[in-house]
Amino acid sequence: MIPQHSVTFDQSMNMIENRADKPEEACGVFGIYAPEQDVAKMTYFGLYALQHRGQESAGIATFEGTHVHLHKDMGLVSQVFNETILEELPGNIAVGHTRYSTTGSSRRVNAQPAVVETRLGNVALAHNGNLVNTVQLREELLKSNFNLVTSTDSEMIAYAIAEEVNAGADWIEGAIRAFHRCQGAFSLVIGTPDGIMGVRDPNGIRPLVIGTLDSDPVRYVLASETCGLDIIGAEYLRDVEPGELVWITENGLASFPWNQQPQRKLCIFEMIYFARPDSLMHNETLYSYRMRLGRRLAEESPIEADIVFGVPDSGIPAAIGFSQTSGIAYGEGLIKNRYVGRTFIQPTQSMRESGIKMKLNPLKDVLFGKRVVIIDDSIVRGTTSRKLVKALRDAGAAEVHMRISSPPVTHPCFYGIDTDTQDQLIAATKSVEEIAKQLQVDTLAYLSWEGMLETTREDTNSFCSACFTGDYPVAIPEQVKRSKLMLEKAVV
Ligand code: SF4
Repeated sequence: MIPQHSVTFDQSMNMIENRADKPEEACGVFGIYAPEQDVAKMTYFGLYALQHRGQESAGIATFEGTHVHLHKDMGLVSQVFNETILEELPGNIAVGHTRYSTTGSSRRVNAQPAVVETRLGNVALAHNGNLVNTVQLREELLKSNFNLVTSTDSEMIAYAIAEEVNAGADWIEGAIRAFHRCQGAFSLVIGTPDGIMGVRDPNGIRPLVIGTLDSDPVRYVLASETCGLDIIGAEYLRDVEPGELVWITENGLASFPWNQQPQRKLCIFEMIYFARPDSLMHNETLYSYRMRLGRRLAEESPIEADIVFGVPDSGIPAAIGFSQTSGIAYGEGLIKNRYVGRTFIQPTQSMRESGIKMKLNPLKDVLFGKRVVIIDDSIVRGTTSRKLVKALRDAGAAEVHMRISSPPVTHPCFYGIDTDTQDQLIAATKSVEEIAKQLQVDTLAYLSWEGMLETTREDTNSFCSACFTGDYPVAIPEQVKRSKLMLEKAVV
């Protein structure tokens, strides 16, 4: 168990320094209805596979009849749970969550699932995404005298459902009415004493998949990604569709399209970087898509070099694709220390100067005297990329060419991804040439926006790519916009 203590100023500064120079994913959600199974343990493993989606807190709620058992705490899934805790979570339904905080600070009280009482029993809600109309929703709920105990939008959704149910609606009707009050991104798993719901917003911005267990009768599982199904031996059935609610009970699975105008806008960053490469989207692994991004990148921005490699782990599939198309030998130039997590210990000054070597160490004899192409999936602030380039040059690389398998990130995300404020995004204020100069690379090229979308082999209009364009599929209220669009704020 993680001791419950507050984080000191020094520790928070160190957390900030240790934050990856990457957008950070919001959450992973998981749900299961399986009376014959150890649902808490299966949820534990489901969350374990979804750990990359959030590392700050984890929680599981189980339903034993009308009684809810809940355990949640700060830390990794493997730190928050052990055999004894899981044994204290009996039931036939479980809802799980792993969190990275995008709204509400990183505190235990904000860990999920959020459990709220209603006239029909408790709801336990796990949310991936971000609402953009929280100010309005919060005001409405406060008027109804709800005592909001956390600072998360997820708790507000649970209270909105409670309000509708307490006014006389049944679970489905109450939930649908509540979803109509929500704007933004929400993929939800909601446990009730009678069954679990899987829900996506009308744009399906965050993923949510349905799996089946090999059982008689068929039992259903919900997870943010298919890797959460694989780990417990569940078969991928299909996605929860944008604007759909699935209701899983003793009678099986029922579908309720709750929005009449769904328009699919899946977050393209899920495909480029967030979701695990072994997860399936559009009937192929993301590894295959990311490899094709590398091929397209090699076609768009060729270069003469001796070796190409990816920034581990997320840049590797694109680097293999780049090598295949360019004919440049693929190798490994950087070795990742796979056992590092977030550290709360301040490195020494000299260690801090060496920076990147904490996580990635260059292979000197592979790099010495070589013209190298280094592939990464994105550049956000550019701080890590700069340290990486320095490390490659220190290791003896003769030329360093950087290729990025997505376009420049110029706008922040309001739908559940932490991309910092706009003034922290290097491409929001600098041209590609200026970025190349700052990173001290010989050449730098990004994949085109068209290249990124066409490579999906899907309808190019079915994705959100707002962090590359500023074209947000769900309107962002001015008040919310100003909190992150610092550049625009300056000129308003
Ligand atoms: S703004 Fe970017 S990160 Fe956010 S949902 Fe859209 S594509 Fe994904």
